[in-house]
Amino acid sequence: MTDTERLSWRSLLLKPLIAAVVGIVALALIVACATAPLTGRTQLSLISDSQILSMSNDQYREVIGQSTLSRNQKQVGLIRNVGKRVAKATEEFLRENNLGDQVSKYEWEFNLIEDKKTMNAWCMPGGKIAFYTGILPVCRDEEGVAAVMGHEVAHAVANHGRERMSQGLLQQLGAVALSVALSSKPAQTQQLFMTAYGAGTTVGLMLPFSRAQESEADRIGLTLMAKAGYDPHAAVGLWQRMRDSGAGKTPEILSTHPAPETRIKDIESHLPEAMKHMKR
Ligand SMILES: [Zn+2]
Repeated sequence: MTDTERLSWRSLLLKPLIAAVVGIVALALIVACATAPLTGRTQLSLISDSQILSMSNDQYREVIGQSTLSRNQKQVGLIRNVGKRVAKATEEFLRENNLGDQVSKYEWEFNLIEDKKTMNAWCMPGGKIAFYTGILPVCRDEEGVAAVMGHEVAHAVANHGRERMSQGLLQQLGAVALSVALSSKPAQTQQLFMTAYGAGTTVGLMLPFSRAQESEADRIGLTLMAKAGYDPHAAVGLWQRMRDSGAGKTPEILSTHPAPETRIKDIESHLPEAMKHMKR
C-alpha cells in the first residue's frame, strides 16, 4: 500500500467520523435551545431553570448583603409599589402566553441600593430586583420607574440572562455542563452569572445584551407596564432622558447596541400593541 493510498483510506474513514461528531455537537446545541416568549426567537440554553434559580438566590443575597440599602422610605415605597404592580402584571402575562407553569419560579423581591453614581437596575431570575438610587433622577416619576421595571422584568421573563450565560459558558469554558463548570471553576462561573445579569461589579468580560434581546425587552416591557396600569407612552420620555444623561459610566441599560434614536422609534412602533393591554 502506498502512502497516498494509506492517506485516502484514512480520509475515507475520517470523513464519516467527523460528520458524526459535527452532527452530535449540532444536535446537542439544538437540544440546548429554548424559545423566547412573544417573539418566538430561538435561544441557546445550557443551564436548567433549577440551577439558574439557585444561583440567582445566592447571588442576590450576596449583593444585597454587601450593599447599603436606601433608608428613604418614600423612594423604597415607590420601588416596592411599582414592583408589586408589575409583578402581578407579569404573572398575568405568563398565564396568557401559555407560560403559567413559570409563575411558581417567581419569589419577588424589590430593593433600592443607596448608590447615586450607579445609573442601573436589574432583575435576576425568579424576580429578584435591584434599583440603584442613581437611576431615580432619570426615572423622574412613578411612570418612569414602571418603564425601567417593565424593561428589566422583561429581560427575566424572556430568560435573557440564561441565554447570555449560556453563550458565556460556550465561549469561555467550551459548553461544559454548568455543574462541571461550578465545581471546577467556581469563581469564573459566578462572575459569568453576575455579568450575564448586569450585576457584575468587576467587568472582566462584557456580555452585553444583544440588540435582539434589548428590543425584545422593550417590547415585552411596554406590555407589562400597560398591564400594570401605567401608560406605556411614558417609556418614550424615559429613553429620551436616558439618552440625554448618557455621560460617564455605561450601565447595562445604556451599554447596548441599539442607537437611542432607533430604540425610541422601535418603542413607538410597539405602543399600539401595548395599549391594547392598558388598564386604567
Ligand atoms: Zn436592557
